Amino acid sequence: MSFNVIFFGPPAAGKGTQAKIMEAKYGLKQLSTGDMLRAQIAQGTDLGLQAKEIMDAGKLVSDEIVIGMIADNMEKNPKARGFIFDGFPRTHAQAEALGVMLKEKNAKIDLVLELQVDDTALLDRIKKRAVEEGRSDDTVEAMKVRLEQYRSYSAEVLPYYKVQGIVIAIDGMRPVDEVTMQLEAVLADDINS
Ligand code: AMP
Repeated sequence: MSFNVIFFGPPAAGKGTQAKIMEAKYGLKQLSTGDMLRAQIAQGTDLGLQAKEIMDAGKLVSDEIVIGMIADNMEKNPKARGFIFDGFPRTHAQAEALGVMLKEKNAKIDLVLELQVDDTALLDRIKKRAVEEGRSDDTVEAMKVRLEQYRSYSAEVLPYYKVQGIVIAIDGMRPVDEVTMQLEAVLADDINS
């Protein structure tokens, strides 16, 4: 049986950082739609060109594009013990499509870990990340849109999983290693049960 988890949270909540740590520790494959889109931009593909403008404005790219990328990457990793979905799903349609894709593999979403971080801390982190990584959507202007988008899509996606009783809130304001410990406490329990 595979184990599949969603890392949910606002931009700069630490989803990617934590997903990479958990990938190494539990052998779950991280699938980040943001990373996949940035790779397309770096390769200069049509898809990348199409996505860049939307991403720079802080808006969501189409369901069709991100669902297609997730489907491809799941196919490419048939031996994974399971997946960490990072930044996906962000709409109800994406959540539905993910459920269908997993069901075809006799699997499901087992857990949604919601990293909670307040807006002021997120804006501070974005300013720092802009200097460190040079991401073109890490501007204060784009970040405001991304946070508004987050509020709207979390209200759309979280209830979908809350009714299944699989959402667990994590305090993302703590230092990185303390957040890791909180995540491990939950994952270690669930992954073996
Ligand atoms: P992220 O790295 O997860 O913060 O994503 C960066 C940007 O990529 C987002 O602001 C969106 O423009 C786009 N993006 C990433 N994942 C998705 C998704 N699941 N649905 C729609 N757009 C996405």
